[in-house]
Amino acid sequence: MLKLPLDKTGGFFKALSSLRKLYIPVDSDGGARYELWSEGKNWSSALNTNRSAKDFFFPQTENLFDMKFDRNSVEVIDTRDEHEDFAVFGVRACDVRSFSILDRVFLSEPVDTYYKNRREHGVIISVACRNPAHTCFCSQLDIDAADPEGDAACWVYGDSLYIEPRTEKGKALFEEAAKNCADLVPCGEKDCGEKVAAAKKEIEEALGKNRKLFPETDAFSEENLKAVFSSPLWAELSEACLGCGTCTFVCPTCQCYDIRDFDTGSGIKRFRCWDSCMYSDFTKMSAGQPRPTQLERFRQRFMHKLVYFPANNDGVYGCVGCGRCLIKCPISMNIIKVSRALAAEASSKKEGS
Ligand code: SF4
Ligand code: SF4
Repeated sequence: MLKLPLDKTGGFFKALSSLRKLYIPVDSDGGARYELWSEGKNWSSALNTNRSAKDFFFPQTENLFDMKFDRNSVEVIDTRDEHEDFAVFGVRACDVRSFSILDRVFLSEPVDTYYKNRREHGVIISVACRNPAHTCFCSQLDIDAADPEGDAACWVYGDSLYIEPRTEKGKALFEEAAKNCADLVPCGEKDCGEKVAAAKKEIEEALGKNRKLFPETDAFSEENLKAVFSSPLWAELSEACLGCGTCTFVCPTCQCYDIRDFDTGSGIKRFRCWDSCMYSDFTKMSAGQPRPTQLERFRQRFMHKLVYFPANNDGVYGCVGCGRCLIKCPISMNIIKVSRALAAEASSKKEGS
C-alpha cells in the first residue's frame, strides 16, 4: 500500500505521466471528462465523468487501416496506434466493471485485436466513490463501490490518497512512479490498512442509504424471454423515445459499431465508429431494416441488457448501474423505469396465476 498527501497529486501525476500517457478526469464546461494530463490540470471532484472510460479501449471512431490503389496494385497501410502504453486514473467501480463486460464481447473468438492491444497496454487506476449519487445502483449489480477493481485501487480518506497496486502491471507502474515522486510513500497495515478500512466503512454506509433502484426479480430469466419480449408495455415505454441514441453513447457497456469506407480519391480509409441500436438505420441491410419501428429498436436495447446478454454470459447483466442513462435521456426514460415496469408486470401475472 502507498500513501500520498492529497495536495501533492500534481507531482504524482507528473511522475506517472513521465512513464506513460496519463489520463485523468478534469472539469470542463459540460461536466467532468477524461483528458491527457499536463502540468496545471487538476483532478475533478465530480463523482463520475459524463462519458465513460470505454473510449480508451473502444474509441468512438478509429481508423482501422487505409488502402491505396494504384493501376495494378492495392497497398494496405497499417494505421494502428493502439500499442502505446497509457494509464487511466480515477475510474469508478462501475466503469472498471464495464471493461469485463466488454472483454466478454471483444476478447471472445474471433478476438478483436484492436481492443485487445489497448487492454494490454492500458493500466486502470480506480478510485472508490465517496458519495454515490441517487442515480447509482452498481451495488445491486454485484459491484463494490467501496472496493473497486482495477490494476490499482485508491481511496481518499482525510487529507491523503491511499493506493493499493494489485496486478503485475499496477505494481510495476507504481514501483517506478515512487522513484520519481518523493511524496508517494509506502505505508503499512497499521496506518494505511486502518484508514482504508475506515474509508470503506463510510462508503458502505453511504451506499446503504441509497434507494434500491433496480428491481429484485427473476422476471428477466431466460425462461421468461417470450413473456418479456411480448409484453404490451413496450409500446407505452417506447412511445416518447426520440431515437437519439444518447443512452447508448453514454453507456459504458454498449458495444455496437459500424464500419465504413471513405474514398480518398486514391484509395480508401476504413473507419469503425460507435453505432446505436436506437437508430433507424442500425443493421440496415439491402433486404431492409430488421427492426423497422422505434418500439422494436427500444425493446432490443433493453432485452439485450436484461435478458439476452445475461442468458449468454453466466447471468451477468449488460449494465453496471452507472446511472448515466438516468441522467442523460432527454425524455427521462431509462433502464430503471423499464426494468421496474417489466418486473411489476411479471409479479402481478404471478400473483394472478
Ligand atoms: S436517450 Fe432516451 S430518447 Fe434517446 S434513444 Fe435513449 S431512451 Fe430514446
Ligand atoms: S444501461 Fe444506463 S445505468 Fe446501465 S451501464 Fe448503461 S448507462 Fe449505465
